Amino acid sequence: MAASVPAIATATPTGPAPVSEKPSEAGGRAVYQVHGTATAEQRTAVADTGIDVLGFDGSAMTVIGTPAEITALRAKGFQVEFHSRLPGDLPLPNEPGTRDFPSGYAGYHNLAELNAELNKTVAAYPALAKISSIGKSHEGRDLTVVKISDNVGTDENEPEVLFTCGQHAREHLTIEMCLRIVQRLTSTYATDAAVKRYVDSREIWVVANVNPDGSEYDIASGQFRSWRKNRQGAGTDLNRNWDFKWGCCGGSSGSTGSETYRGPSPFSAPETQRVRDFVNSRVVGGKQQITSHIDWHTYSELVLWPYGYTNADTAPGLDADQARTFSTLGRQMAQTNGYTPQQSSDLYITDGGINDWMWGVHKIWSYTFEMYPKDAWSGGFYPRDTVIERETSRNDKAVNLLLEYADCVPRVIGKTC
Ligand SMILES: [Zn+2]
Repeated sequence: MAASVPAIATATPTGPAPVSEKPSEAGGRAVYQVHGTATAEQRTAVADTGIDVLGFDGSAMTVIGTPAEITALRAKGFQVEFHSRLPGDLPLPNEPGTRDFPSGYAGYHNLAELNAELNKTVAAYPALAKISSIGKSHEGRDLTVVKISDNVGTDENEPEVLFTCGQHAREHLTIEMCLRIVQRLTSTYATDAAVKRYVDSREIWVVANVNPDGSEYDIASGQFRSWRKNRQGAGTDLNRNWDFKWGCCGGSSGSTGSETYRGPSPFSAPETQRVRDFVNSRVVGGKQQITSHIDWHTYSELVLWPYGYTNADTAPGLDADQARTFSTLGRQMAQTNGYTPQQSSDLYITDGGINDWMWGVHKIWSYTFEMYPKDAWSGGFYPRDTVIERETSRNDKAVNLLLEYADCVPRVIGKTC
């Protein structure tokens, strides 16, 4: 059975490592498939153990687990099948490493390269783009935000749209997505009538790397570590650290070692605090200026919307019209990129996630996009750099749709604001 399962793509430059020896479960974390997970309840039960869930392919969940976590899953009655070792977890050479992407991934931007590109764009389009820091990460790196608008130096009375990338360190393709948004909305302003209209009539904010400590750590050895969390202590899962129904519902872990560790308290992570403070600062005259938001992740090719903490379609603060608005725009965006649209909790319960906070606290129409690939067998978190252009441009139309409706998202179901 294992022989028929394709090898998970790794950082090996020439492709998945040849299976020259029988894979072994011995050692640290490894990739497993969990069967008997057809329902959202079953998937939530798996996620609730705090294990690192990579995806769900319609029949089995793919997870990265320690031997202890796998034993615990099996004790709960799940059939867990070993898949492959995690190359990034193999003993690393005792040397500083390259601190950069390995061969085959040079097209990805590390933090210095990202900031260089953002600064270059701002220098090329000073009337349209402005860069600033919203504060520091745990290890003292700047979290930068790029604002894009006409009269960019002025706070105009225009609907605002936020894009955030990289909450999860190893999801490097999302950094490229935010970079593309910045570059496209500036470089095509003069030639693309729709882009000009959006930039003239909205204020667009892009936080291209919410977790720079984590993404740098993931590549620091020159070999991917499959690192998800921030770098505070054993690491906090930033997307379980937001203060709305934090830790309420079995959608995060209280164990520090877990990949979905929610932190000791809501907003315990400096990175979520910084983004929170930025979003709070956009309340002007008592009104939140940001109307809509996409938080970019990989992978699974999904468009997700609140709530994540409950399976119910409606809940306090989310009525039937609002749920219909979320799903209608979500489906329309998914039609443009071929992703699968669904309420976040249809996958499994998550609590303390960014979308629930954005909506629950600020009534921001907040989506999560899980980008390419669809499953672990097509590159997982580490698709080659050759897909960057194709898989980021794939979302141009969805980004445009969000910008189109940003003045009044309920317009999508025929409502007025
Ligand atoms: Zn993610």
